[in-house]
Amino acid sequence: MKTITILIPAYNEEAVIDKMYEKLDSVCGGLSQHTFEFLFVNDGSTDRTLEQIKAFKKKDSRVQYVDLSRNFGKETAMLAGFDYAKGDALIIIDADLQQPPETFAEMIHWWEEGYDDVYAVRKEREGETWLKKWTSDMYYRVLQKVAKVKVYPQAGDFRLLDKKCVAALTQLREHERYTKGMYGWIGFKKKEISYIAEARAAGETKWKLSALMNLALNGITSYSTMPLRIWSIIGFIISMFAFVYLTIEIIRTMIFGTSVAGYPSLIAGILFLGGIQLISLGIIGEYLGRVFVETKERPVYFIQEYSEKELKKEMDVQ
Ligand code: UDP
Ligand code: MG
Repeated sequence: MKTITILIPAYNEEAVIDKMYEKLDSVCGGLSQHTFEFLFVNDGSTDRTLEQIKAFKKKDSRVQYVDLSRNFGKETAMLAGFDYAKGDALIIIDADLQQPPETFAEMIHWWEEGYDDVYAVRKEREGETWLKKWTSDMYYRVLQKVAKVKVYPQAGDFRLLDKKCVAALTQLREHERYTKGMYGWIGFKKKEISYIAEARAAGETKWKLSALMNLALNGITSYSTMPLRIWSIIGFIISMFAFVYLTIEIIRTMIFGTSVAGYPSLIAGILFLGGIQLISLGIIGEYLGRVFVETKERPVYFIQEYSEKELKKEMDVQ
């Protein structure tokens, strides 16, 4: 019998995790064709999440957990899950019941048909403001234009991955992670299905605005150098204008003599160019900062504890 790992990253989810476990238990209990592993990754929760997971583990041998040494963020928590998953396939699901476990059956069906990456696209988004929807729409439109890989806008991390996709993803060990882009980058046979997203069952969203902004920037900077190139193009255009203007000014001075007027245009020109130079420096800085982080070659995360004592890896750190 094939084993399927359900990967649940959880950060301060004490309000929903019991419900989540019950739901997993009832849905997976009904799928008797496969055995399951429920792999919880505790991403440095400061509440009772870990104790709750340990309680599930006591009564249910399907439960495993990886406890990270601190909060590393969802993207890194998922990497830890990929490293420790033992199944022939892996399904990633949020701890907050926004994604219905009932979709598992359909995912598994397509996996058995030979697809390696069955990703679920959300049809409706309940409990989200129009501003969040609009900014996310715009973001994906820009990302699609500049990135070299295909990123499926409505497809999140809710998906089934064959173990070869998981093995591929564990080899992408960058710190500033944008997993959504990685799914497209690694390739393999993909199949789209859909689901209706629910509002969070309880608790609050764990993504702060700053974390979302960082993720959005990671998406663009990891898959495109377009933002760097744009400045060469703008610089070239401005230089062309400057050259034409200079030629006109020289000829005019030769014919009509000098005039000292032009203070406003001088200031406007200096401020405009100064602004553009700062923006372009900032963008170079964004890339440089990421190069800096990666060149340290630190492990992406550390673990405090893994539920199976003899560790899958030789070392207990990654
Ligand atoms: N999460 C995590 N580490 C974090 C933030 C979030 O493991 O630093 C988990 C969280 O517990 C949940 C999933 O990532 O299982 C999605 O988070 P959330 O529901 O808060 O995000 P949203 O659905 O609002 O995008
Ligand atoms: Mg959520």
